[in-house]
Amino acid sequence: MEITYTNNFKEYKTPENLDPFTIAQQQLRHACELLEYDEQIYNALSEPERLIILKFTMRMDNGRLKTFKAFRCQFNSARGPTKGGIIGHPDENSSLIKALAALMTWKCACVDLPLGGAKGGVICNPKEMSNNELERLARLYIRKLSEFIGPRIDIPAPDVYTTPQIMAWMMDEYEVIKGIKAPSVITGKPLELGGSVGRISATARGGTFCIREAIKETDISLKGAKIAIQGFGNAGSHVAEILQDEFGCKIVAASDTKGGIYNKNGFNVHKAIEHKKTTSTIVGLEGTQQISNEDLFELNCDILIPAALENAIIKRNATNIEAKIIVELANGPTTPAADEILFEKDIIVIPDFLCNAGGVTVSYFEMIQGFYLHRWTAQEVDNLLNRIMTKAYKDTILRANLNETNNRMGAYMISVERVVDAMKLRGWI
Ligand code: NAD
Repeated sequence: MEITYTNNFKEYKTPENLDPFTIAQQQLRHACELLEYDEQIYNALSEPERLIILKFTMRMDNGRLKTFKAFRCQFNSARGPTKGGIIGHPDENSSLIKALAALMTWKCACVDLPLGGAKGGVICNPKEMSNNELERLARLYIRKLSEFIGPRIDIPAPDVYTTPQIMAWMMDEYEVIKGIKAPSVITGKPLELGGSVGRISATARGGTFCIREAIKETDISLKGAKIAIQGFGNAGSHVAEILQDEFGCKIVAASDTKGGIYNKNGFNVHKAIEHKKTTSTIVGLEGTQQISNEDLFELNCDILIPAALENAIIKRNATNIEAKIIVELANGPTTPAADEILFEKDIIVIPDFLCNAGGVTVSYFEMIQGFYLHRWTAQEVDNLLNRIMTKAYKDTILRANLNETNNRMGAYMISVERVVDAMKLRGWI
């Protein structure tokens, strides 16, 4: 990938020289044009309600002080309390956080959850921190944010490099500060502390419900369909497992930061997961040949699943993609220029904020269970997730077809309209 970081949090540009928030605003502008909304409506929607920038200093295990910069962006709360993950990454920046908070707003509206959108981030490298340091940092972040979050205000969740254990520390810190039990203040918690069954694989499972519907529009059969997956972390490995074990698909290629693997007849996903656990990469899995991350996008396959980072599908590789369906489990994996190419090539794109909405949907189930101090079964979670994702997928395709636009704009039109309706009813616009 050709993302350039000119410094840690000021300029973050894609290969096509756009920063993530500019892309998010361009997509919103396009949706507003299709909905025939004027500039006043666009202005009311295009900036976050609140962007909190924090700085705090903490003593590290080696006795030295370290200063961290962190963010929380609450983008739009017209439809309900805001919701979104917390990223802990060295390359975090406010443009990315604002873009992802906007995406969360459209995501919650697309699957019709009564929630707004938010995102948070701490600039740090969790891989280089001890457990004690991570706990202190998680608690400090919540201490600084405690007056701006809450089960009926803004509900954080895990995201890239943040874990259920980190969520447990965050919930505990909030409860200590407020002197109450408030499990719904944070989702993605361990099961023992009120996490929901099915949360860990929810993003992948939600994506597979969309795949099941999308494939009906093609002449491909799910059984034996050839799948290539970029990224073999939470989303990527779970989607591989479900597609292989439950749908009978063949996973022919996958990749991680160290490179990719390929076998035209498919490889065993469980062996790949084991191999990654022991060697920390999928590269070198027995019976596969090594390929590059670039090769993966141009392979002969039926379904291509970007499940790693932003800007994976760009103008340069979009032209050579042979897959019939692209399943955007990652956030923002396709640049606007690449999007146009995919539309011209008649490739079915399941856009990110529809495709990966399974995660926030089960997080929402976790909030409900927290309010009632009650636990749902795996079957209850899966059934409701299936219903919500299937409806959102069908609504999106219908809207895109009616307006002769691509699926991303179909999803945007539904979401933006719902947010604008809520703002109008509240008398905000
Ligand atoms: P993760 O950290 O568990 O996994 C990411 C994977 O991508 C890792 O295997 C990593 O090696 C790989 N990767 C990173 N850079 C790569 C590169 N340049 N080429 C190939 N592989 C690369 O993260 P995750 O939770 O699986 O999230 C992946 C994407 O899905 C992110 O965009 C995230 O925002 C999105 N997403 C995840 C969830 C969720 O619930 N996990 C929900 C919504 C969206």
